[in-house]
Amino acid sequence: MLLAGCSQPPDPGQHRQFFALGTLIDITFYGIDSSTAEQAGTELEQLFLRMHADWHAWQPGILQETNHRLATQDEFSADPTLLPLLEAANRLSRLSNELFNPVIGKLIALWGFHSDERPAGPPPDKAAIRELVQQHPSVTDITLDNGRIRSSNPAVSYDLGAVAKGYAIDRGIERLRAHGIDNAIINAGGDLRAIGRHGDRPWRIGIRDPRGPGVLAAIELGDDESVLTSGDYERFFVYKGKRYHHIIDPRSGYPADSATSVTVIHTDATTADAAATALFVAGPKQWYAIARRMGIHYVMLIDRNGTIYMNPAMRQRIHFETEPADIHLSKPL
Ligand code: ADP
Ligand code: MG
Repeated sequence: MLLAGCSQPPDPGQHRQFFALGTLIDITFYGIDSSTAEQAGTELEQLFLRMHADWHAWQPGILQETNHRLATQDEFSADPTLLPLLEAANRLSRLSNELFNPVIGKLIALWGFHSDERPAGPPPDKAAIRELVQQHPSVTDITLDNGRIRSSNPAVSYDLGAVAKGYAIDRGIERLRAHGIDNAIINAGGDLRAIGRHGDRPWRIGIRDPRGPGVLAAIELGDDESVLTSGDYERFFVYKGKRYHHIIDPRSGYPADSATSVTVIHTDATTADAAATALFVAGPKQWYAIARRMGIHYVMLIDRNGTIYMNPAMRQRIHFETEPADIHLSKPL
């Protein structure tokens, strides 16, 4: 997804860009003086770089250290900066019936997605996948009590890739508000949270077409809303003509293959991020039930044939570039 509706070149005094969490972070302010924007932008850049280093799944840091200690099955004090993220991830995993499963790090690594390079394949050995699935790493194996943490299953290994971006966006928005900034967007590679307005009109954003270069649709955002998309085009490899992407169905151990993209609108970005991943795994048959469980009110899912599914409230808000011939509307969420 990308930011649309910016027909004029962005005003540099109201803009900040940097790389973190594997993507371009783009912060847009509205109506503040450039020194406040500069100061807030610098602070956010430092915050995002810190989060990037701390929560990295395959480089040394707090998360790796936590995973090493969890594997020992001993109890220890969780890092206080990591703790609220682990709590949120565990809660959202339960709510999603574990389709969002933040402790399948070993599976993600087996598929080769714990790398800065795009893996080239081949896909991992069937037996190795089966073995990891049968060990059933689950957040229900983890006890978190008063800052102390332990796992009863050595197969548990956190990979926060499906929720950390949303969580980081939420922390960033908190920081902006602390600066007295009420109108802004934090956009992390198309996943974003917007607060306030763009002057006399609401913020308007574009949703990327999962199979083409352009924008599929536009949405106007309310005073404080997040829009997160999970797509099979972010990280993938093609081996012998078949495409293998980075969103894994924890039940099979293979890339979830019924959806190509899921967009969720929700207040906080943490919930929206975990939900987009869970609904992607759920696919056209199960997304509605999981969205209800997770308390999500706006969903658009595109399946591998290009068929679009959404709930009626989402339908009312979305403006397509080219009106699709057929939309499968669910019952209200
Ligand atoms: P995006 O890369 O577009 O932000 P997601 O938010 O769906 O997409 O995150 C995908 C990442 O989450 C993967 O790269 C992997 O690290 C991790 N992941 C893959 N499958 C799952 C899953 N079923 N539950 C939780 N995390 C997952
Ligand atoms: Mg996600």
